[in-house]
Amino acid sequence: AAPEDISQKSESDLRSPICCILGHVDTGKTKLLDCIRGTNVQEGEAGGITQQIGATYFPMENIRERTKQLKADAKLKVPGLLVIDTPGHESFTNLRSRGSGLCDIAILVVDIMHGLEPQTKESINLLKSRNTEFIVALNKVDRLYGWKTCPNAPILTAMKEQSKDVQNEFKMRVSKIITEFMEQGLNTELYYKNKEMGETSSIVPTSAISGEGIPDLLLLLVQWAQRTMVEKLTFHKELQCTVLEVKVIEGLGTTIDVVLVNGVLHEGDQIVVCGMQGSYQHHKELKAAQGIKITAQGLEQAVAGTALYVVGPDDDVEDVKETAMQDMKSVMSRIDKS
Ligand code: GDP
Repeated sequence: AAPEDISQKSESDLRSPICCILGHVDTGKTKLLDCIRGTNVQEGEAGGITQQIGATYFPMENIRERTKQLKADAKLKVPGLLVIDTPGHESFTNLRSRGSGLCDIAILVVDIMHGLEPQTKESINLLKSRNTEFIVALNKVDRLYGWKTCPNAPILTAMKEQSKDVQNEFKMRVSKIITEFMEQGLNTELYYKNKEMGETSSIVPTSAISGEGIPDLLLLLVQWAQRTMVEKLTFHKELQCTVLEVKVIEGLGTTIDVVLVNGVLHEGDQIVVCGMQGSYQHHKELKAAQGIKITAQGLEQAVAGTALYVVGPDDDVEDVKETAMQDMKSVMSRIDKS
């Protein structure tokens, strides 16, 4: 079949892409997410951003606002972007073993002053094994000696403000890092020079402290996701939902954090996880992609990485439970192997 055409789709046909952030410790993963989340929140206009359980949801209005200097908003068609918060998340290992992979796209953070580090290489292997597309955030550009801060500016705007020395050091470091990626079998290029996205992964220089390059990163994530994943991002009614973490919280009992990957969850829906049954009560209606916390009696035995099912009007509860048990067994066996 001919590839589906994004121009035929509108916001209501598409779900939000899900993005995760990977990279070596101290490259700025946490700070980068804070920065993406931060700007509007500080000014008291949350801009609809909701910090959810294990994830942050950015509605498209917010992304349009953040990227308007790049003048590309007309082409943005997904309802938003869901970023998984916690790269060091304990269940990440479980999710890792889950072949399907939760994320549509990843940000691989590399420190421009350090280049590729041991966990960068681990992250690369993980992305390769899951076939996940990624964008490199080449972070801490403000550490280049003599960098002139241009808060939240697109990277090319910021680059024009820099001295020849800074520009030269930047070029030198970028080309060294591109070589290091090549040694890992990966072609990379600065995103504004990258003519063959897909074959070649894009690098976006960023500062998580002063925000240079953040508009570029957001725009590229959304554009890239909608250009290459129309089918994957097409909204469907059938629920696709994965358990991120199971926690016991005092006063609340057992809660499970789940990522609603696709579909809609309704108030009163009968849910099944790992063979156990509960009911969803929180919102009238929740549309993917979102991160949600579910409190329910009897879900103590849930396992991270397993799927959550909803019992439909024509379904037999026992059949759904059986499917959920099978899913749990396959997740458990993969955890054992890893
Ligand atoms: P993580 O371990 O990858 O989550 O890294 P963090 O976000 O905790 O950042 C590690 C350290 O680097 C912290 O002290 C941050 O303040 C600092 N840092 C992160 N991003 C930047 C950046 O863009 N520029 C500078 N100068 N420092 C940064």
